[in-house]
Order: sequence, then C-alpha cells, then structure tokens
Amino acid sequence: MAETQWSGEWITLDAQGALNVPPNPNIAFIEGDGTGPDIWAATGPVLDAAVLKAYGGKKKIHWFELFAGERAMKQTGEPLPAKTIDLIRKCVVAIKGPLTTPVGTGMRSLNVTLRRVLDLYACIRPVRYIPGIPSPVLHPERVDMVVYRENTEDVYAGIEWESGSEEAERVSRLLFENFDITLPEKSGIGIKPMSPAGTKRLVRRAIAYALKQRLPSVTLVHKGNIMKYTEGAFRKWGYELAREEFSDRTVTEAEVLAGRQDLEGKVVIKDRIADSMFQQALLRPEDYSVLATPNLNGDYLSDALAAQVGGLGMAPGANVGDKAAVFEATHGTAPKYAGLDKINPGSLILSGAMMLDHLGWVEAAQLIHQALERTIGAGIVTYDLARQMSGATEVGCSRFGRALIEHMD
Ligand code: NAP
Repeated sequence: MAETQWSGEWITLDAQGALNVPPNPNIAFIEGDGTGPDIWAATGPVLDAAVLKAYGGKKKIHWFELFAGERAMKQTGEPLPAKTIDLIRKCVVAIKGPLTTPVGTGMRSLNVTLRRVLDLYACIRPVRYIPGIPSPVLHPERVDMVVYRENTEDVYAGIEWESGSEEAERVSRLLFENFDITLPEKSGIGIKPMSPAGTKRLVRRAIAYALKQRLPSVTLVHKGNIMKYTEGAFRKWGYELAREEFSDRTVTEAEVLAGRQDLEGKVVIKDRIADSMFQQALLRPEDYSVLATPNLNGDYLSDALAAQVGGLGMAPGANVGDKAAVFEATHGTAPKYAGLDKINPGSLILSGAMMLDHLGWVEAAQLIHQALERTIGAGIVTYDLARQMSGATEVGCSRFGRALIEHMD
C-alpha cells in the first residue's frame, strides 16, 4: 500500500483555492501513536477498495508515510519534524491517526501545533447516526449536524504561564500596575485571544457549506453573556460576516420570528449560548444542522454530540485551512488497546470518507458509508459497540475493516 517514493502526481490549488486533483494523487498519512497503527492498518485498505470499486482502476491514491509523535521522536529526536510539516504542505491533503500528548507537562499538543503551523483553522466534525448503532438517547436518528470549530485561537492559542513562574509573576504585576487587577497568589495564567478575521473565516466556511449542501441553518454557539469581548464578539462578527458576504442568501432567526417571508433557498443564521446548546443538542437536535463554534466550546460539543450517535469510535474529523487539509480520527491514542487489533477503526475510516469527499471522489465516499451501514446492520461490530448491543458479532479492528470491504459488493 504505502510507497517509499512519491510515485503519484501532486494535488495543486488554483488561484481561488480550489483543489486540482489528479487521478493518481500523492497523499500523506501519519499512523500515529498508541492504537494509531491498528486503525490505520484497517483504514487504508478500505479507502483503496472504495476507490477501486468506484472508479475501476482509473483513480488510485499513492500513499506515502510521514512521521510524527513517538516514532518521529525515536527517528529524529523531534516529535514533529519540519520535514513532515513541509511534506503535508506539498501534498495539500493528508490523513493521520492520533498522537500522544502528555497532560500537564511542558510539551505542547502535537495536534494543536500541527493545526497552528499549517493554519488549519476549521475543525470540521460531522455527526450523523448510522442505524443499528447503540445510543444513550431515545432518538439518535434526529442528530444530523456538522460542527465547524475554530481551530487556532481561543484558550488553545497556547499563551499560558505556569503557577509560580517568573513569567506568570510578571503578567500578574502588569495586570495589577496597569489595570488594578489582583489575581490570587501563584495563579497559573492563560490568555484567550479571539479575532474578527479568525472568526469570520470560520463562519464563512460554515455558511458556504450550509449553502452548498442546502442545509437549513447555521448556529453561532458562544458564551458571550459572560465573556463579552471574546465569545460575545464571536457572535457579533458571525452575524456581521453573514450580512457582509451572504446577505442575499441568509436571513437571521430574528427576521424569521418577525415574520419575514422570503425564506426560499436561504440559510437561517441563529445563535445559542453554549450551555443552552448542550441542552438543545439533547432535547431538540433536529432544529440544528451546522454549528459554528469557538475552539473550546466546539471541542466539548463535538464529543458530546458524537456520544449520542455511538461514541468516539465512530466520530470523524478534518482540520482544514486554505492551503491544506488533514483528516483525523477525533479520539486519542487509547493506549491500553495499542497493538491488540481491537479498537474501532470507524472514526478514521469515516475521516477517510470525508477526505474522499474533499477530493471530489464522492462515489467512493458513498460506498464507504453504505458499507458501514450494511456491516453494522448485519451486527458485525467492534468491542465498543458490541458491549452495548445484544446478539452482535464482535470482531477485531482489522476484521471490521475487511467486513466493510466485503459489504461494498
Ligand atoms: P482516548 O485515547 O480517546 O481514549 C479514551 C477512551 O475512549 C478509550 O479508553 C476507549 O474507551 C474510548 N475510545 C477511544 N478511541 C476509541 C476507538 N477507536 N474505539 C473504541 N473506543 C475508543 O483518550 P485519552 O485516553 O484521554 O487520551 C490518550 C492520549 O491521546 C493522550 O495523550 C491525548 O493527549 C491523546 N489525544 C490525541 C488526540 C489526537 O491525536 N487528535 C485527541 C485526543 C487525545 P473504553 O476504555 O471505554 O473502551
């Protein structure tokens, strides 16, 4: 499958930022740490089989392996080598497994770093129910949302200082001397930057997606009642962008409530305070389709939504910017299952289907969705789903991948 040299052709971007995809594109993959190699071993063959079946050999991905995380550390002494980043830029499209980030140590998350250096500003997570999957809610089929989460700003910007450090003391002094603000002694300090440009490019993508897919609404999710100049500004800038760039194709919820009639073909822009949105996602999920969120809220919300439709094992994601896109399993490395060929590869496989859609290879993506429905419909699932279902046939990670290929016929 993977090759040792670049034997395909390069994907390029035109002046408007649209992809030119050759029939034999070079695409980079990073296996990842922990269970990453298990899920990649199951995923690659599924993607290849779907492409082969959809296009009868006229299209083929040329895979090339790049290194990050623990394997890169062993090989180069660096967890995220510059070469890996440069080659993802060159490929324009890549797919990756999860990478380990130690909690509470000095090392920054590799995933966050990758998103920042490649400016992958939109984290896109579709949340849709596949019939047959066990769910903790009564009507999981009512959940059909796509979360557009801002990926580079907010408290994830990585501007923070450790309790007791000289830097934290200096920031604390600066706040006291300039703004008369007194922090509790030995506070750790983090900064939450959110900008008009960062918000608007995210909301632009969310609205463009809703229009293209003919979806009814985009909801701006924020905590602006408390954090007025960051989260509140996210809401304000989101509405501004809709007005400035999509005024002929959007209406606000307030206008609809006031009786505006010309709604045909228009996307409704609405907003919800984050805590209320968590309730709404459980009580009235059918009222929401595209959500645009700041970084932290989107992180929480997309996992909570994923839980309603089968959990992290089935939750795909993509990190997309204007120059590159990296598709990834949304879960972590699940280290206790590493090498056991047990974990659910569904998240990475569905991320691969998103990647095929991104390439414009929608027929191949469709085959994967169909195969997943048929396989799960036949009761063939990995341990995470089997333990919640009666009468299911539990299979390992690679066997699940093979079952999908069998169900493509
Ligand atoms: P995790 O790796 O996502 O695993 C937590 C639990 O979620 C697992 O023990 C398992 O639950 C379930 N799970 C995760 N993936 C699954 C799958 N494919 N199939 C079935 N069940 C799955 O979270 P974590 O243990 O908090 O994080 C471990 C490491 O991953 C950390 O270093 C973290 O920083 C990193 N991480 C990386 C990414 C990324 O690369 N994008 C994202 C998140 C976390 P059960 O034990 O109940 O079976």
